[in-house]
Amino acid sequence: MRLLIILLLLYLGYRALKIWLRNNITIERQRKSRPAGEIDDVMVKDPVCNVYIPKRHAVSVEIDGEKLYFCSEKCKEEYLKTKKR
Ligand SMILES: [Zn+2]
Repeated sequence: MRLLIILLLLYLGYRALKIWLRNNITIERQRKSRPAGEIDDVMVKDPVCNVYIPKRHAVSVEIDGEKLYFCSEKCKEEYLKTKKR
C-alpha cells in the first residue's frame, strides 16, 4: 500500500514538473522572438514522413554519430523501429 502512495506522489510530481517545464519554455520562446531575425530556424527533413520542420521544433536523435531530425516523437520511434530490423 505504501508503494502505491509513493508511485502516486511520483506521478503527481512528474506532472507538475512537466507543466512547469512547458510554462518555462513558452516564456523562453516569447523572450527570444525578437524582430531582428536571428538565423535559428533552419529547416530539416524528417526521413519518415518527408516533411520539412524548423530545427528548433524538431525531435532530434543521434544514430552512429549522425544527427537526425523528426517532426514528432512518433516518427522518431517509427524510424528507430525500422532501423533495428
Ligand atoms: Zn514525421
